[in-house]
Amino acid sequence: MADIDPQGTFNAIEAATGKAMDPGFSQSTTQDVEAACQKAADAFDSYRAMDSDKRAAFLEAIGDEIMALGDKLLERAGAESGLPAARLTGERGRTVGQLKLFAKTVREGHWQGIRIDPAMPDREPMPRVELRTRMVPLGPVAVFGASNFPLAFSTAGGDTASALAAGCPVVVKGHPAHPGTDDMVAGAIAEAARKTGMPDGVFGHVRGTGNDLGAALVKNPHIAAVGFTGSRSGGLALVAIAQQRAVPIPVYAEMSSINPVILMPEALADRGAQLGAGFVQSLTMGAGQFCTNPGLVLAIEGEGLDAFEQAASEALTGHEPAPMLTGGIRKAFAEGTETMASHKGITELACGVSGDGITREAARLFSASAEAFLADPALGAEVFGASSLIVHCKDASELHKVLESLEGQLTATIHMDAGDHEAAKPLIPVLERKAGRILANGWPTGVEVAPAMVHGGPYPSTSDSRTTSVGTLAIDRYLRPVCYQDMPASLLPDALRDGTDLPKMIDGTPA
Ligand code: NAP
Repeated sequence: MADIDPQGTFNAIEAATGKAMDPGFSQSTTQDVEAACQKAADAFDSYRAMDSDKRAAFLEAIGDEIMALGDKLLERAGAESGLPAARLTGERGRTVGQLKLFAKTVREGHWQGIRIDPAMPDREPMPRVELRTRMVPLGPVAVFGASNFPLAFSTAGGDTASALAAGCPVVVKGHPAHPGTDDMVAGAIAEAARKTGMPDGVFGHVRGTGNDLGAALVKNPHIAAVGFTGSRSGGLALVAIAQQRAVPIPVYAEMSSINPVILMPEALADRGAQLGAGFVQSLTMGAGQFCTNPGLVLAIEGEGLDAFEQAASEALTGHEPAPMLTGGIRKAFAEGTETMASHKGITELACGVSGDGITREAARLFSASAEAFLADPALGAEVFGASSLIVHCKDASELHKVLESLEGQLTATIHMDAGDHEAAKPLIPVLERKAGRILANGWPTGVEVAPAMVHGGPYPSTSDSRTTSVGTLAIDRYLRPVCYQDMPASLLPDALRDGTDLPKMIDGTPA
């Protein structure tokens, strides 16, 4: 994104050319942040009390308004991000699809987590009180749009959809790399809120460059939680701000992951070359700018690994680079890959077609021995983009050691044949400690939006491993339980009264 000019506006930078795009967008001020957060706080009680059907209709209407923006939205998102039309069409489908999925979740009611433990007045030696519990929304949520998903993880993306579904008003800080896309989508949400009769302030929006704006948002006392996707340094800065508040709040930051892929011996012997080609496809998709990009491959040395490396190197050598999302991300990628290339323990196996060094960078593939990898923890850090490191292990015990040395991950993948299952068994408990999603015979870059999806994991992949940012389980991060003890029926919330058909547990048993 360009610097702010004296008039207080900033421009998007066209990803493919590095040139500033019209129009300029006004930079929000800390007063704008305060106003948006105040309005969100004012909207909270009426929004959370709203009938589930109305809240669901709002989510669906956001999807309809996004679709009504038509190709103009995709064109603007394409110019700002450099992502191709097919990818953005898919991403728009995912954005609208996840809004609909959350609408269904809101209507169906499990999210309310209703538990009723009837009183037992005659219990000995002490009578039991009546307890009725349900989940309630936390309050206004600050959402930081992600640069690498200008639609599905930005203004109306997963964090916004899950927070709105939970009953939390949202204040979005649009990502400064795609202000035009952000502006159009923010307008779509505002229109949907108007058409479905939502309270003023249910959705607020600020935009601009510079850390001050985001910091002011997280510091604002009306904000009750934060959803973020981006760099480890950015995520940790927001966690620190949130912890230092007079009232600390949770920050759900999705940050960095290298998504280890383990190639088991029989799978490698059977289809090493095929795996090599599939791997490069996953590695280079979207210029590698996925949080689930396979940045690390682990395998035991042998002919199968040689065939894998040869096929991967051939596929990568002819790969044409695509524009990267921003100048900052391109620069970080160039520096990260140069550090790898100049490391004495690393061999460069292949390099894609050269980039222009302004907007595009060649994809790169490296290898190292397990010994070299274990000797330098910096080799396990994320290089965001199409770069990966293949680690050669002497045997299963060395592979195990490398796995144990890894930081927390969003995903871990095992490629295996039936004959590998016995050897893979002891790896599963290790992977469970390390990752949020464990894949068999797939590539981690496809993330299904579904009830059972987990897109989260131990630090540093996220700041809170107990939750997910993709899939309907994400609603839980913006909820907390409240228990009513011996409350007269007339004072109970409707959801906790007798006779509703909402899903519930009665005395510990699903009813
Ligand atoms: P970023 O620099 O972390 O920025 C994300 C958002 O957070 C922006 O709105 C940014 O706005 C704000 N922000 C960053 N640091 C902040 C701070 N200290 N205080 C307050 N607000 C702050 O991420 P990015 O611009 O998307 O890309 C930079 C790097 O992030 C990439 O090279 C990559 O390493 C990583 N990344 C990772 C993922 C992933 O999914 N794992 C996705 C995207 C990017 P301002 O800069 O205007 O303050």
